[in-house]
Amino acid sequence: MKKFKKISSSFGTFLNTNSYIEITSDNDFGYIDKSIECIHILGECTNTIINSESKKTFVKYINNELNILKKTQDYTFIKVGASVNWHKFVLECEKLNLYGLENLAFIPGSVGAAPIQNIGAYGVEVSEFISEITCYDIEYQKNLVLKKNQCKFAYRQSVFQRKKFVIKDITFRLKNYFNPDLSYSSLRNYIDNKFNKNINSINLIKIIGIIRSSRLPNLKKIPNCGSFFKHPIIKKDNKFKKYLVCFENSKMKISATKLIETIENEINFYGGLKFYDTNKLVLTNTENCSFKDLISTIESINTLISNKFDICLDVEPEIIT
Ligand SMILES: Cc1cc2nc3c(=O)[nH]c(=O)nc-3n(C[C@H](O)[C@H](O)[C@H](O)COP(=O)(O)OP(=O)(O)OC[C@H]3O[C@@H](n4cnc5c(N)ncnc54)[C@H](O)[C@@H]3O)c2cc1C
Repeated sequence: MKKFKKISSSFGTFLNTNSYIEITSDNDFGYIDKSIECIHILGECTNTIINSESKKTFVKYINNELNILKKTQDYTFIKVGASVNWHKFVLECEKLNLYGLENLAFIPGSVGAAPIQNIGAYGVEVSEFISEITCYDIEYQKNLVLKKNQCKFAYRQSVFQRKKFVIKDITFRLKNYFNPDLSYSSLRNYIDNKFNKNINSINLIKIIGIIRSSRLPNLKKIPNCGSFFKHPIIKKDNKFKKYLVCFENSKMKISATKLIETIENEINFYGGLKFYDTNKLVLTNTENCSFKDLISTIESINTLISNKFDICLDVEPEIIT
């Protein structure tokens, strides 16, 4: 049944709506209109900015269960409900001696949202650990299970961005032994300098926390959505060598931060929006900007980047009109 709700985004914007539906059992899916365009599925709103005048129906799937399904010699399969908090889940895995997710610690938001943009940090993406996902297909009104290879995971991408599916739970395949991925250079350097290479999973999670807090604003004090733009993936081109993040098959991923730094002084920021001092990819909203201020600021950045580099920057958070 539709209810009243004040929905707040970590970006500091909010919406009062009479069209909020909480789904706690399969029967509740009957309350959802069939039209996908009229629905928005909510997690914890740390990667979503909602226009305060939006007329959408907001749907939240509630499932906080966590069950170990199967153990093999090397792996454990664990099924987790969509509304479990992501970082709490990472900590729970550490307690259960299940490994792999350490580099993704402290990413805000819910388990159910993690596959949507295939969350990633410090050289690791969540898709590496996903076995299968149970979801509800809004269009065909039925439950289905998608295996990892059906999810079309790529950098900040998945099949779920088509918005047809409500994710109900995710089965992860985690390692029974600690074999961390320390290949990401800033992580590697930190560990080499300060930890003499002897780290365990608790230390790794702590290090990730320290590195993240030096690069990202404290969400409780400075409203933001994390990285605001995706790193563009372009055809290999020598003129962009100095912006290279990594090669992606025949293409190159280049740094949106470095591109933005070249035009930073020309940007028209509206409504007090500005980039975080130590990270020019994080747009902060300390003065309650309006939706129009946000759109105008994005337009200013996009126009400058497009005129200078002929590249279109994609916004990472979802903007709901
Ligand atoms: C300070 C900060 C740092 C961040 N750092 C990172 C980072 O390092 N790496 C990274 O990848 N991201 C990062 N993010 C972005 C964000 O944390 C992730 O995208 C996270 O997964 C969003 O979770 P959420 O529950 O808040 O999702 P929401 O913002 O509520 O939703 C995000 C998307 O998921 C969809 N969705 C949510 N739940 C479901 C569901 N059950 N079924 C179907 N669709 C659903 C929504 O419709 C929407 O499209 C950061 C954000 C902040 C604020």
